Amino acid sequence: MNQAKTGRFIAQCRKKKGLTQARLAEKMGVTNRAVSKWETGKSLPDAALMLPLCEYLGITVNELLSGQKLEGAQYSAAAEKNLLALRQKNEHQARLLLDSETWLTAPGIAACLLLVVTAGVATLPVPARIVLIAVALALILVMSAAALRIEQKAGYYECRVCGWRWVPSYMAMFWAPHLGRMRYLRCPHCGVKSWQRKVITADGPVLTASESTLRSRH
Ligand SMILES: [Zn+2]
Repeated sequence: MNQAKTGRFIAQCRKKKGLTQARLAEKMGVTNRAVSKWETGKSLPDAALMLPLCEYLGITVNELLSGQKLEGAQYSAAAEKNLLALRQKNEHQARLLLDSETWLTAPGIAACLLLVVTAGVATLPVPARIVLIAVALALILVMSAAALRIEQKAGYYECRVCGWRWVPSYMAMFWAPHLGRMRYLRCPHCGVKSWQRKVITADGPVLTASESTLRSRH
């Protein structure tokens, strides 16, 4: 998958239809800037937009991702390659998101501790102490909400019992106890509550050799 080539292809199809960037943007419900970013290869259209965009331009998603018109045998070969590339891109994004959660929370927790310790130790008037603690609490709230949103958006949870992989709702995540990246959730597939672990892909468990022997012993 070559984003620049896809971009040039979008521009080419758009011009063939006699559309301006502004007109295409309007049709797709995005900004001119978004269309310009697609066409210069800076970004790909969101997954939700790909199908309507392709329909509108009279091409297939496979062709969009390949950046060219495809025929016959060429078509299925490209389809597999594109599917794989898209998946890798999604996995990469999920990893980046989860990493960003760590970068967000680690300094945040340090800042909160510093505020609370300062409020406790420093010789300050009572209102100043209260302000410091209130700021620490607000920081914790904002950080937890952001971290939860990231965890919900990136990757999937895997049921311990049946191996089902799924994305819980924000509220289900909010109320679920957690330990690090593990969360105690009810599986929508088998209905059992278990400590589910975060996984990057939606595909069933891929066990390493040592894990398989561990599991078969149970
Ligand atoms: Zn399950």
